[in-house]
Amino acid sequence: ELRMLSDIEIAQAAEMKPITEIAAKLGLQGQSVIPYGHYKAKIDHKLAKGDGPEGKLILVTAISPTPAGEGKTTTSVGLADAMNALGKKTMLCLREPSLGPVFGIKGGAAGGGYAQVVPMEDINLHFTGDIHAIGTANNLLAAMIDNSIQQGNPLNIDPRRITWKRCMDMNDRQLRFIVDGLGGKVNGTPREDGFDITVASEVMAIFCLATDLEDLKARLSRIVCAYTYDGKPVTAGQIGAAGAMTALLKDALDPNLVQTLEHNPAIIHGGPFANIAHGCNSVIATKLSLKLADYVVTEAGFGADLGAEKFLDIKCRYAGLHPSAVVLVATVRALKSHGGVAKADLSKPNVEAVKAGSVNLARHIENMRNFGLPVCVAINAFPTDTKEEMDAIYEVCEKAGVPCALSEVFAKGGEGGKALAETVLSILDDNAKVNYTYDLSASLPEKIEAVAKKIYRAGGVSYSAAAQKTLDELAAMGYSDLPVCIAKTQYSFSDNAKLIAAPEGFTLNVREVRLSAGAGFVVVVCGSIMTMPGLPKHPAAMDIDVDVHGKITGLF
Ligand code: ADP
Ligand code: MG
Repeated sequence: ELRMLSDIEIAQAAEMKPITEIAAKLGLQGQSVIPYGHYKAKIDHKLAKGDGPEGKLILVTAISPTPAGEGKTTTSVGLADAMNALGKKTMLCLREPSLGPVFGIKGGAAGGGYAQVVPMEDINLHFTGDIHAIGTANNLLAAMIDNSIQQGNPLNIDPRRITWKRCMDMNDRQLRFIVDGLGGKVNGTPREDGFDITVASEVMAIFCLATDLEDLKARLSRIVCAYTYDGKPVTAGQIGAAGAMTALLKDALDPNLVQTLEHNPAIIHGGPFANIAHGCNSVIATKLSLKLADYVVTEAGFGADLGAEKFLDIKCRYAGLHPSAVVLVATVRALKSHGGVAKADLSKPNVEAVKAGSVNLARHIENMRNFGLPVCVAINAFPTDTKEEMDAIYEVCEKAGVPCALSEVFAKGGEGGKALAETVLSILDDNAKVNYTYDLSASLPEKIEAVAKKIYRAGGVSYSAAAQKTLDELAAMGYSDLPVCIAKTQYSFSDNAKLIAAPEGFTLNVREVRLSAGAGFVVVVCGSIMTMPGLPKHPAAMDIDVDVHGKITGLF
């Protein structure tokens, strides 16, 4: 029997069409298509505006994942290919991968098997440079804050209360906490500082919520980056950085067009973390896609408790987007894991564990339905799944009253996604109205409690003294109307990764509260959340190589 091809081998064997051809299929030509080489192009972001018919938006989300990921991106790509194969004009709209996970554990984020976007090496490594532009804009503000202090400190900034960190798109724990500005008077003011990974920066979140250049500049200007000695907020606008930051981001704001293995159009643009940020591609990319196609398939990060909740309560609410359906991705493996099976045993048949773990799926189904949206489940098929195990999932879906389809897109591409595509088409509801989890007019603690109780099923919320103090300060500063962006582990409904399946009645522990005034939300940190990840014992980077012809190997 032949060895199974790796993702990168499949991607490299693909014959891509020139990107101008893909653009032409969308009716795009001339100045609005800005080619970046032969197989990537940026599309003028202004096309996201204007009247004209809009496509239907389909959100792909998932059960609480295991560290390997449950296949949301893979399912999204395959679903878009399958819908196109059925004659439905469909665009795919995804996040840009960060180099952190590419070189760390998780690998690339361009789909898998026969459901991938290409050129996968480019998409995973640098792409069109957007993330570098975002990092540079972030670091310009950092440099200007410290320079303002050096130049006589006209804004009276307290160097101990600079909340703005430097950033880099790399997993590098060595930079989490640093002391900089050493070397005496001419070399700055010594202070504690630190780096975040670029995709965890507020600039990334702002970039993904901005609707145009003007809105981008206004949001950048509102960033609160430090406090004065008497406790007043200092903004990027006061530092004088917003214009130059916007200039650095001008080209990046145009969404990137690439293609799937089956030559269907995919927009990949913006990639904020799904814990301390809202975890989905840019608003501009989604709006542009809705203008260009009849259907748009998009993905939100992590499980539905994090990604879908923020997609709906933050992104859709801000951008006036109305999804027509939700696809919940589940795998036999992950449900077994929620049923208590150890990682090493996940390939062994265990229908009882699947049944036990299905409470996690049932909870996510209920949550999505409570949002008022039609839901279907996609079983992302793995070769080790047995019929009995899959039947157990069908049974749970039947009991919950939602349709369920087997997705074989990893092994078969769009052909393997036709059953899912037909299921999705059968549940679409253009008139679905999102039931938000909370009203924006509620207080910040009321909003946190609403998410904790309605989505996570916590019994209550407890606040550290520091978190309570920040919440009081934010209310006094007039930020009560912002939505909340809760950062917690993706492995559990609770803030404890070990509480798998469907825990309830636990206490959600809020450790810290941070203001993202530019993005327009309040980050609520529960448990320990890493905004600068580290590399594992055997980083994926150790297996990545390139030969004399420039062919890259080891990306996955
Ligand atoms: P997510 O978007 O949920 O994080 P991905 O779609 O990126 O998940 O998939 C995570 C990893 O699992 C990828 O390396 C992908 O190739 C692999 N994968 C996804 N679906 C399957 C499948 N059905 N069979 C085998 N591997 C898969
Ligand atoms: Mg993904």
